[in-house]
Amino acid sequence: MNRKLRTSAAFPAISLSQHKPSARFDANLLVCPEHRAEGALALAYISHPDCLRHEMGEHHPESPARLRAINDRLSAAGIWDWLRHVEAPLAPLRALQRAHHALYLAELNAAWPKQGYVHLDPDTYMNPYTLTAASRAAGAVLRAVDGVMAGEFQRAFCAVRPPGHHATRAEAMGFCFYNNAAIAVLHALDQHGLARVALVDFDVHHGNGSEDILANDERVLMVSTFQHPLYPASGAEPLGFNMVNVPLAPYTDGVALRGAVTRDWLPALERFAPQLIVISAGFDAHRDDDMSQLMWADADYAWLTEQIVEVADRHCRGRIVSTLEGGYDLSSLARSVLAHLRVLGGH
Ligand SMILES: [Zn+2]
Repeated sequence: MNRKLRTSAAFPAISLSQHKPSARFDANLLVCPEHRAEGALALAYISHPDCLRHEMGEHHPESPARLRAINDRLSAAGIWDWLRHVEAPLAPLRALQRAHHALYLAELNAAWPKQGYVHLDPDTYMNPYTLTAASRAAGAVLRAVDGVMAGEFQRAFCAVRPPGHHATRAEAMGFCFYNNAAIAVLHALDQHGLARVALVDFDVHHGNGSEDILANDERVLMVSTFQHPLYPASGAEPLGFNMVNVPLAPYTDGVALRGAVTRDWLPALERFAPQLIVISAGFDAHRDDDMSQLMWADADYAWLTEQIVEVADRHCRGRIVSTLEGGYDLSSLARSVLAHLRVLGGH
């Protein structure tokens, strides 16, 4: 059986990290001059403690330990202090409704437990904090879009959970409830009046929810890579003219990845000339992550980010909003996020 298709009962145990760097949420915090390298940019790091309160059982890989591992690594690497920490607001209903059916949102609310868990699919559960965390995650990307569009900061990384890219217009699945990336894209188009927004998804799983929501919207270009076959088994046949889906065979390494991105993504992004780029940043294609059989390394995430930054610098004043999707091996997740942020921040 494919390892990704295992049930939650077979999820590996995770040792939770207890150490947490001191949270520093201050929307007015400026980049510390002595930590700012030549050419460094204002990079917002948007999160909220509520994102740690959603959990799906101690053996579930999509755990609060993921964010703690990332924060630990950023702190140890010395970049925590030059990030511009911003607290994620709750997302207004109207922003969620751009991506999701009103009935789905109402049903999700009705099923939300006051105690214990409610299972929505074999791997996706709600606890009493889930929809608050999901609202913070969606609120983070909205805040990120508003910030980059206002020039408050040039780029933003949303360190949030639950992730979003499997959530369709009307279904929670694959650990996802609200589709954060699609919510960000539609907010930029509808609220900020942009005409062209690109979504880049390099999570190892196909972003079926984002495709469901954004397919055939001429204002959007979605480019993605994903292992195929793998959960959720979609993506090989794109659902819309605006989808550049690049399925990768198991054991694809970074060299092949770079070839595929250069061949398939970059010309499409260049032609599209986006005014903003949103990234569904999943780090589960890493060779150390047993969610998949892809063989990427930390440096591949840096390279991918460099390619996206170059497109953003040419077409949209460098504006990028990146939001965390998957990545379940805590060490490689944290290292890869660090590599991603160093490039986004110009360090
Ligand atoms: Zn994934």
